[in-house]
Amino acid sequence: MLAVLKEEPKPNTLSVRDIDSPPKKPDHLVIRVLGAGVCGSDLHTFFWTEDYEKRFQNRLPVILGHEFAGIVEEIGPGVEGFKVGDRVVARPGISCNRCKACLSGNDGICPNRRAMGVDYNGAMAEFLSIPTQEVFRLPEKFPMEIGPLIEPIIIAYNAVLKAGSLLGKDVVVLGPGPIGYLISLLLRGHVKSQTIIGLNRDRSRMEKLQAQIPNIRAIEQGASRKGKEETLDADIVFEVTGSRGGFQQSLEMGRRNATVILVGIISDQVSIDSNLAVRGEFTIRGSHAAPRRIWKEVIELISSFPQNETDRFLSCITHRFPLQRAKEAFQLVASGEGLKVLFIPENRSA
Ligand SMILES: [Zn+2]
Ligand SMILES: [Zn+2]
Repeated sequence: MLAVLKEEPKPNTLSVRDIDSPPKKPDHLVIRVLGAGVCGSDLHTFFWTEDYEKRFQNRLPVILGHEFAGIVEEIGPGVEGFKVGDRVVARPGISCNRCKACLSGNDGICPNRRAMGVDYNGAMAEFLSIPTQEVFRLPEKFPMEIGPLIEPIIIAYNAVLKAGSLLGKDVVVLGPGPIGYLISLLLRGHVKSQTIIGLNRDRSRMEKLQAQIPNIRAIEQGASRKGKEETLDADIVFEVTGSRGGFQQSLEMGRRNATVILVGIISDQVSIDSNLAVRGEFTIRGSHAAPRRIWKEVIELISSFPQNETDRFLSCITHRFPLQRAKEAFQLVASGEGLKVLFIPENRSA
């Protein structure tokens, strides 16, 4: 089968080549991948960011990718509750089911969790093999074209849950990448006002979002002094840039008693004016990976979407590529031109 692998511990390297398909294993399913998304974290792997160099120690070669949907192709010994042809998605990590986090229903942040596309082979391939404990069968009504987006939608949904009550709130989303874009779509109709803030190069993304949410305010950072002042009064701020200045900026945008949700992963340590949070009595919460119960909740939610809502979420997919063009796909995401870029493994024409 064709697969996208990180093989060498060096920046800007990827290989796309034919390797053996995964064998049947006890309690595992072999899944045929219908679509797999490129995530910001895959870019870090490609560019071999310092943080990722540490994460991947001695784990290469590994197939990348953790956002996908597919169809059950083969069933390993001992598997119950699945059959060949089932449409599925999977949580991109294997939790231990024994630690305090797992036992209290917070299995998304299990400290012993093994990550797909890092600790074991991921989804940028024609097939992958994963344990059934992290696989979810999709209901008939689930629109399959959204399948590869489910993981980023859940990351966004989990962040929105952390913000608590949305009713009557003025909300700022800092960073219109895929997760920021999806957070905005989830907030649509549930808040008093919504502002998305991006850089000059994010303009087309913000226009795309405005086409989906007509009353969202879009502000280009640094565009005007006035623009900045207008945003300094939010009840809830989502930091989704993962940039050095993002944390500090989100604190500056909060009004008294604001809630700041940190979603972006910042590769460096940053300094902030913590007194903004002290004097403003802010609530600061991190949001990372959702537990299984949230996966089930979101699968139900998406299954109940009317067509126009499905289309709204699909609007974040900007490009679809065959696996052969992996490097091009990665560059497109890195340049900011692609918002959500998918691999469609069945499309073998390069
Ligand atoms: Zn991801
Ligand atoms: Zn655990």
